[in-house]
Order: sequence, then C-alpha cells, then structure tokens
Amino acid sequence: MIKTIEEIIPAPPAHMVGDGFRVHNFLPGKHDITRMSPFFLIDYGSKIEFGPSEKQRGVGVHPHRGFETVTLAYYGKVAHHDSWGNSGVIEEGGVQWMTAGSGVLHKEYHEKEFSKAGGIFQMVQLWVNLPAKHKMTKPAYQGFTRAQLGKADLPDSAGTVEVVAGEFNGVKGPATTFSPLHLYNIRLKKGAKVNVELPEKYNTAIIVIEGAVVINDKAAANDNFVLFRNEGTEIIATATEDCILLVMSGEPIKEAIVPYGPFLMNTKEEIMQAYDDFHKGKFGTLED
Ligand code: MN
Repeated sequence: MIKTIEEIIPAPPAHMVGDGFRVHNFLPGKHDITRMSPFFLIDYGSKIEFGPSEKQRGVGVHPHRGFETVTLAYYGKVAHHDSWGNSGVIEEGGVQWMTAGSGVLHKEYHEKEFSKAGGIFQMVQLWVNLPAKHKMTKPAYQGFTRAQLGKADLPDSAGTVEVVAGEFNGVKGPATTFSPLHLYNIRLKKGAKVNVELPEKYNTAIIVIEGAVVINDKAAANDNFVLFRNEGTEIIATATEDCILLVMSGEPIKEAIVPYGPFLMNTKEEIMQAYDDFHKGKFGTLED
C-alpha cells in the first residue's frame, strides 16, 4: 500500500544561524513538536553563494544536551570543534553525527579554505532526539565522508542510494543510532524511478535537495519538504530532473519532550538541571 503524502511544504522564509548558516526551518514549524519524532528539528540550508572571507562564518560556542545533531553538507565544507576534543571537517556529500548526550559545547563554521575562496553552500542539520534512558549518554562523534556511506546501486542505472543510517534494500549505513531510523540520499537520474519501502508507523519525510520529482502522483520541486502520513509502506519516486532526495524515517519515541533553547529533555526539571550544569562548567571548555 502507498504511503500517502500529508503535505508538500515549500521552504519557509529563511533565518540566519550565526552568520554562516542561512536555514529554512521545516520542523517543528507549525507542527506538533513530536510530529516527526525521533527527528525534532529539521533546518535546511538551501543553496546560497557566500563571497570570499578571511573570517570563517558560522556559529560560535554553544551547548547541547539530550539529543544528536546530524549535519549533511551538499555544497561547501563545514568545520567543527567540541569541548571533548573532537573536531573535523564535513566534506561535500559527507555527514557528521554528533551525540550531545549528557552535554557538549561546540562551534560550527565554514571550513577555512572554503571561507577564503567563497562559493555555493548547501547543508541540512537535523536534531535527532534521544530516548530518555540514553539522554545522558557519553558525548560522541561520528564523521563520514561520502565514500564511507553505504552505497546501493539502483537497477537499470537509475541512480544510487547513499545510506547514512539504517538500511536501504539490505545496504546498511555506517552511523550508529539510539533508536531505529533510516537516513539516506537517493540520487536519481532524470526519468528514473525508485520504489522505497518504509515501515508504516515510522514518521517519514523527504527533502528535495536538488532537482524535481514526482512522488506517488504529486510533483515536488527543489527545496520542498514532503511529509508522509503514517499509513502505507511504499513510496514511488520518479525523477523529472536529475535529483537528490534526502529520506528521513524513524520509529517515534513515545515520551513527553521539553525543548528549550539548545536542550531537548523530557521534563522542565531536566531543562533547569541542564542550565545549572552548563553554568557550572560540566559541559567542558571550548574557546571561541
Ligand atoms: Mn549546534
């Protein structure tokens, strides 16, 4: 049975995160805060050209607790440092999966050489909730280049699927997660078609990162967010142009959540505890 589309949402007006990330917030937006659980926040940085800059644009030191940030770079490169000594660069097509868990400070900005040269920048950042029993897990960092992602070639040279987490047609992604979810890029050639099977009860959405597509029988344009109903298991996508589709699908975490600023916890008390611990320096140290 077809997984029907609930809504196709064009990119809402953008806002800046720091001076380096111009994002459209698809979620939570006007939706219930658990609508796409375990995905809480979906920020989409559509293509934008940055001029050359000696200063690396981005967002300075800030804390997180209680969830994971997943950053996918499509154009441009993102550099990152955290308070537990992890750092890295997300290359084009690469993914960074950071488990904030019990707490990190980090900073995110354009990579040095990219800043100097300037260029087209396009990225996605997801906040993936952690189940209550894992909220205070040790902070961790997983980084993957495009070549390190799982790769499924589609029949008849239709394209490829690059799997970050979960699986597509038996091809697994390298990222480890705390709740069951699938995250992958479908790169489909114009005119090609792909059938995607996803569990009925998983919250599921697609961002049209590049190109255009017909999903089931509805047209979705570049930068659109396609939200599916929790019914049916099959999605049929036909590329009307060469396209990249970011597929997000996960088993809902059925727990109350309290988001506040950079924290995502289960109760108000835990939010207050997070601020208290942050002010006491328990998130480590990181220089701006
Ligand atoms: Mn952050």
